[in-house]
Amino acid sequence: PRSGYCKADSTFYSKRNPLSLPANPSLDVTTFISSQPHRGTTAFIDVTTGQRISFSDLWRAVDRVADCLHHEIGLRRGDVVLILSPNSIYIPVVCLSVMSLGAVVTTANTLNTAGEIATQIADSNPTLVFTTLQLGPKLSRSGISVVLTDDDDERVGSTRGVKVVGVLTEMMKKEPSGRRVRDRVNQDDTATMLYSSGTTGPSKGVISSHGNLTAYVARMVSEKSMQGEIFICTVPMFHIFGLLTFAMATVALGSTVVILRRFELNDMMAAVEKHRATILALAPPVLVAMVNGADLIKAKYDLSSLKTVRCGGAPLSKEATEGFLEKYPTVDILQAYALTESNGAGAFTDTVEDSRRYGTSGTLTCDVKARIVDPNTGRVIGVNQTGELWLKGPSITKGYFRNEEATKETITKEGWLKTGDLCYIDADGFVFVVDRLKELIKYKGYQVPPAELEALLITHPDILDAAVIPFPDKEAGEYPMAYVTRKPESNLSEKQVIDFISKQVAPYKKIRKVAFINSIPKTASGKTLRRDLIKLATSKL
Ligand code: AMP
Repeated sequence: PRSGYCKADSTFYSKRNPLSLPANPSLDVTTFISSQPHRGTTAFIDVTTGQRISFSDLWRAVDRVADCLHHEIGLRRGDVVLILSPNSIYIPVVCLSVMSLGAVVTTANTLNTAGEIATQIADSNPTLVFTTLQLGPKLSRSGISVVLTDDDDERVGSTRGVKVVGVLTEMMKKEPSGRRVRDRVNQDDTATMLYSSGTTGPSKGVISSHGNLTAYVARMVSEKSMQGEIFICTVPMFHIFGLLTFAMATVALGSTVVILRRFELNDMMAAVEKHRATILALAPPVLVAMVNGADLIKAKYDLSSLKTVRCGGAPLSKEATEGFLEKYPTVDILQAYALTESNGAGAFTDTVEDSRRYGTSGTLTCDVKARIVDPNTGRVIGVNQTGELWLKGPSITKGYFRNEEATKETITKEGWLKTGDLCYIDADGFVFVVDRLKELIKYKGYQVPPAELEALLITHPDILDAAVIPFPDKEAGEYPMAYVTRKPESNLSEKQVIDFISKQVAPYKKIRKVAFINSIPKTASGKTLRRDLIKLATSKL
């Protein structure tokens, strides 16, 4: 196996030990996870209720729920199941059961509006939704059957407009039917379909096969760095970072996960103290909040158990890294770079010394190789040269659900994933993410596809044209800013534009700044010159 940069094929190979993958072509990822040996006892703890699920309870529950879904509800291989839920100890149960049947897990951001969820439902066409009493009303017009994950089942009758076909906590208690006939699942079958806007356009379903996820889990098991730890999960489980880590990796590794339904800084710190947590998984804005609140946090909570903070999902500034290491000198920061389309493959740092090499996301994970491609000429370039990062490996997606055009644009014929990130890789193999080529905006780690906001903006009777770009922000990372071309004689104001959008989208997608412009700069083929607008917007900073 090659390692490091190879001049002959202009490819960067991972320096880590190569991955050995299971050879069985009909192995589902749930079975692969359940077959991992470990010595863990408690799998999940709910911070609010104190409820615990042991590993043996977890696997019993997964079997029973799969049995119910197959025999009573009629869920079959290939059917799509939407999970619309805040972080919960039930998400891993649902996810592992559904995947064991060869059915497909999809998720939605719980902050999304009923309209945004309806759009996603129209695209993914789920046969069943797992949700909570609070979120149920967001589905009221969808007409799909629902299973509730709240244990508060007395109120099921009051769920207006949605057809409730079951309650998860009841399914978890049911004696198995004894009938074991299930569909055969292949490594090539789709296991999950999480939504991402990729390099351009609206959100799309990213197809991840059992093979893709098995490769991811096999890597985490081989790295062992998360074995037997106590995690606090604050990252949302509808996002790839949360779902892969806490419904799959930690289960395979026998680690304990303490789950907060929603993120609140003090609750998170109290949970670290109470459960003697060793690892925090979080997105950069939470790390920034920990730095800003450090003095109060340290005075109030005993954080002596905490060893590591694992940070990913968006770039981490030098200021935040250094601020954190100064305020929390006994805690290491490990950084990771990945994307929904790569199922966790990408780069990460192994040591705090590596994280101090400011700007790097670490070295390539053992399951990928990389190329750097000049975005203007399409030529593959080499060490220390900046271009688009391409990744190839066993956990890379095959493409987008029912979207051949986006798939072709993103995955080359040879299987390289065009990440849309501008990067360079140095002589030691460290990956540096320099900028984003793709349109995507990340507000506090949440994906905001500009195309969705632009489509809404041009429905306004006073707006001729619009473009949405990221505007840098210390706390959020970046937020959506709109350049708007008004119709002649219109005196539409910034506030009117902001209000027009905020009524129609989830809070994290809100446009927070507007500038008016005579015309949106475009290429000859009509593509918006986003770079020019970003330069214009930030030149005054
Ligand atoms: P998502 O699919 O939501 O995980 O978004 C993936 C994108 O987030 C990547 O393509 C990057 O643009 C950005 N991203 C994720 N992790 C990092 C990181 N460690 N440093 C810089 N950008 C990151």
